[in-house]
Amino acid sequence: MDNQGQNSEIDWLPSSFHICSSSEEYITGIVSSEEDLKLLLESHKRATGTSYTVWSDDSQKKQKVTPRFLWKVEDYSKRIPLSVKRRVIYACQHGKNYKKAPKTEELHTEHEYISRRRFHIQSSKKVDCPAKLYVRYILRYDNFAVGDKSSRSEKQAAIKRLLESIKENPTATSEVIHVKIPLAEAHKKHNISENCHFSNKIHHEVRDKIHEYVSLGMTSVPFLKKVLKTFVQKELSGMGSVLPHPQDPSYYPSSHVIQNHVHQALLAGKYSGFDQLQLEKKIDEWKLTDSDAQFFFRQCTENYRDQTEIHIEVNAQRNGFPVTEDSEEDFEDKHTPEMTTSQETFLFIHQNKQQQHLLERYGDMVLLDATYRTTKYALPLFLVVVRTNVGYKPVAEFILEPALGAKVLHA
Ligand SMILES: [Zn+2]
Repeated sequence: MDNQGQNSEIDWLPSSFHICSSSEEYITGIVSSEEDLKLLLESHKRATGTSYTVWSDDSQKKQKVTPRFLWKVEDYSKRIPLSVKRRVIYACQHGKNYKKAPKTEELHTEHEYISRRRFHIQSSKKVDCPAKLYVRYILRYDNFAVGDKSSRSEKQAAIKRLLESIKENPTATSEVIHVKIPLAEAHKKHNISENCHFSNKIHHEVRDKIHEYVSLGMTSVPFLKKVLKTFVQKELSGMGSVLPHPQDPSYYPSSHVIQNHVHQALLAGKYSGFDQLQLEKKIDEWKLTDSDAQFFFRQCTENYRDQTEIHIEVNAQRNGFPVTEDSEEDFEDKHTPEMTTSQETFLFIHQNKQQQHLLERYGDMVLLDATYRTTKYALPLFLVVVRTNVGYKPVAEFILEPALGAKVLHA
């Protein structure tokens, strides 16, 4: 901890974090458990107001039969053989947009590129910020430690003994987690200040909480806003000493964001599973909690249908607002032909009181937005939106089978 005095930026570091080194841009150190890592990353997020996305994670990689032994991992060395079990890299949310088309395409302003770009609503956030956060899970082979002034051959002998013993007993190790954390200086091309929280994504635990409440039938946005605030300040902050910034939307999402997550939770059927009978039950429940809402549900009559689920994380590809009028083009492209046409196709429509009101008031121009792959089911979600004085608002949403798509235009 000898460097701590130089840097007032790092007062927030939890005591379970043991610093290896620090510079203007990064600070590295060791924690000994997954809980300590969680606390560290949570404290870091709150103190710096920065948000990260997973850049790479090699945990899915096939494990080598014999690990690669090292005497040093980054700046961590204890005169014992080490191996890196897993490495996860997080990139600043303003980092490189790896979904972007190759550079050559960028030069020719091809039609294809332009039209694709329109659907990357978040691309404007990416400014190639190089800040990355590294997490390395290191295995220690403490029984094969060497002395202070051990020679190269002594080290080689230790590795040889280790290799021989590992055949018999491959788990004689302890584990530490090495973390390299970017500080404000590591971020380039965008500001890190209290005013920059606006673009932060919702905290995954806050998002899960919304889903939890929705599964219990609680969908009122003002109510959720209140309980989420309590959740963040009581439960979520029990683990970290630093309170989130009151303007950080990761912790205090706007009503609009909450509303979107409520709908996602409802439509994804995350807790009920895709069972039409259950959905019917759910609709009855929703009718009780929100008596003014309108529902329409028609069950599919063909019983032995192949339910091809698309396993994509519900929030991975959010298609937020404002919507573009061209969304229907997109719909044509992604038409999924594997869905069989049945006698009565599946149709679900939802509209709450507030939405009915909005439709009445702003209904002179109505847009239709098709959203794909936002739910785990291979069914498109349509949003009927109107332009209000505060931007585009959904006034109804419906899920249907693609075979019905053509009929939507006449509805
Ligand atoms: Zn950054």
